[in-house]
Amino acid sequence: MRVLIGGGSGFVGRELTRLLRDKGHEVTLISRQPGPGRITWKELESHGLPPCDGAVNLAGENVLNPLRWWNESYKKDLFSSRIDTTKALSQAIAASSSPPHSWVLVSGIACYKPSPTTEYTEDSEWTPFDLLSQLVKEWEAAAFLPENAAKTTKQVVIRAGAVLGRDGGAMKQMLLPFWLGLGGTLGSGRQPFPWIHVSDLAGIIARSLEPLRNTEAPPPSPQVYNGVAPAITTNHEFTKELGRILRRPTIFPVPEFVLSAMLGSERAVILTKGQKVIPLKTLESGYQFEYPDLTLALKQIVGS
Ligand code: NDP
Repeated sequence: MRVLIGGGSGFVGRELTRLLRDKGHEVTLISRQPGPGRITWKELESHGLPPCDGAVNLAGENVLNPLRWWNESYKKDLFSSRIDTTKALSQAIAASSSPPHSWVLVSGIACYKPSPTTEYTEDSEWTPFDLLSQLVKEWEAAAFLPENAAKTTKQVVIRAGAVLGRDGGAMKQMLLPFWLGLGGTLGSGRQPFPWIHVSDLAGIIARSLEPLRNTEAPPPSPQVYNGVAPAITTNHEFTKELGRILRRPTIFPVPEFVLSAMLGSERAVILTKGQKVIPLKTLESGYQFEYPDLTLALKQIVGS
């Protein structure tokens, strides 16, 4: 299978590329930078979709970029880096004379309103309630294929929780303070912390790229999968488990007001609030998690 991955140079994309190449598939990245095995977004726009059997979009400015202040220009980049790239790919798929059989977008679980009690599955109704949920709405809408294109291309949206792995994402920023014994719970610590090991997210994407087995046309709307581990964890449980595995104390809680002052309250919610997200459809699809529980996931990450 030939797979095109927008934003494939990043944390999740590197893991997905490794997995797909190990399975014998060919991977081409779409990037802002030209290079071997890549095309640029400008080339996609001017030459159209290169021949491919599957397409994925993983492009997006990092929401927790510690080097950027929370201001209008950053918010604009968060939206445009996701929505413009997703639109560029969905439009190129719709305009292609030999479209791929699968089109996968990885979005986020920020669409589900934080709550300590409500459990969300892929079928849960939601409407935007803040900036990040509005972002998810516009991002997923940008992926939607017109009716004609949807008859030949299966559409999949994977809503990912915090992606855990050694080479990027939240863990990359957390490991050093935890090693130094400066780790601690964030906010109250009672908020749910939906997470997924990066190998599992790559596995779910790879599975979503596979063609439909039957000869029927794909469903007109995207199939949605929650990209989170089945184990529900709170921030406190996560913090204590990481400290236990690293054999480091975790006695320095970071109060909510400090995180809001540092990150801006609109994005601090990613850390101080959380949702109980259930990967119901993901499990029903037959996907078997390599890292269903936190201890297993953290041991792999810290030990590797
Ligand atoms: P990365 O932060 O590693 O970024 C992925 C790629 O996006 C980069 O390699 C870069 O590719 C491209 N990119 C970055 N900034 C911009 C920009 N301003 N404009 C256009 N392209 C840009 O992301 P991850 O691999 O961690 O995540 C993949 C996707 O999954 C993202 O869309 C993310 O929002 C989503 N997600 C990730 C989570 C996580 O915990 N990591 C959680 C939930 C969702 P290049 O430089 O080659 O152009």
